Amino acid sequence: MKVLKIDHLGIAVPNLDEGKKFWSDVMGLKLEGTETVEEQKVTTAFLPVGESEVELLVSTAPDGPIAKFIEKKGPGFQHVAFRVENIEEALAELQEKGVALIDKTPRMGAGGAKIAFLHPKATGGVLVEISER
Ligand code: ZN
Repeated sequence: MKVLKIDHLGIAVPNLDEGKKFWSDVMGLKLEGTETVEEQKVTTAFLPVGESEVELLVSTAPDGPIAKFIEKKGPGFQHVAFRVENIEEALAELQEKGVALIDKTPRMGAGGAKIAFLHPKATGGVLVEISER
């Protein structure tokens, strides 16, 4: 598989204002837009950093994956996403290597990206996303 770059870092925050307090007010990153992915019960806010982005993740429902994450672990780093050249090829290669996957086929993420998550038990505890756009 060809990994092109770190696409974004996903950071779970209780709400956007709370997230902006550090990432915008202290770090000076500019919020360039938000997008709600209903299927995932999440609103993502993009703060570009060079070739990558910080992506703040805000739950839109108390039973969404980000709400559950915050309930269990508190707010903070949630996942890292790598941009790959071809996500279908990458998933086939990962399966061939016996890597546990949360998504065996790509689904649609924010920004029209095709995304898939690897299982943290296969990555040493890090939730890894691969994306193609
Ligand atoms: Zn992501």
